[in-house]
Amino acid sequence: MMAGSHMVVGAALWAVTARAGGLEPAEPAALSIALAGSLLPDIDHPQSWAGRKMRVVSVPLSMLVGHRGVTHSLLAVVAALAVLAGLGDAGPWAPLAVGYLSHLLADALTPSGVPLLWPHRRRFSLNLCRTGSVVEIGLVAAIAAAGGWAAGLDLSHLPRPKF
Ligand SMILES: [Zn+2]
Repeated sequence: MMAGSHMVVGAALWAVTARAGGLEPAEPAALSIALAGSLLPDIDHPQSWAGRKMRVVSVPLSMLVGHRGVTHSLLAVVAALAVLAGLGDAGPWAPLAVGYLSHLLADALTPSGVPLLWPHRRRFSLNLCRTGSVVEIGLVAAIAAAGGWAAGLDLSHLPRPKF
């Protein structure tokens, strides 16, 4: 998925999680951490946002395991869930973990999927949209709307398309 899509899905999932946990869904600090978390798994790609920020990690990682390797696996999911379970909803770790998980969910919507059982090569995919396609944009918009609605955000002030 495109970086922008990952950020939208990450923000939506964080808003819903925060609301469910009794937190303010649109609190800016937590939201920005969720956005960073939603881009973090692509640190295995030197040209991605996270990869460009931390080349010391992304270059060797991409050479060793390639893109969508261990950072997109169940190992990473379990680590993120352990962070969520261990540290509760306080601090920066919860939005980071939720953002991270949202990335794997979003990548699982594309045909290339995610290697949940890494180092096994099998990839898991719902095959709903190709990266960069119109379907991706529509799907992400639907996720954003559903997330905003579920989080109880007031979306009435957003600009509406004029026909
Ligand atoms: Zn990815």
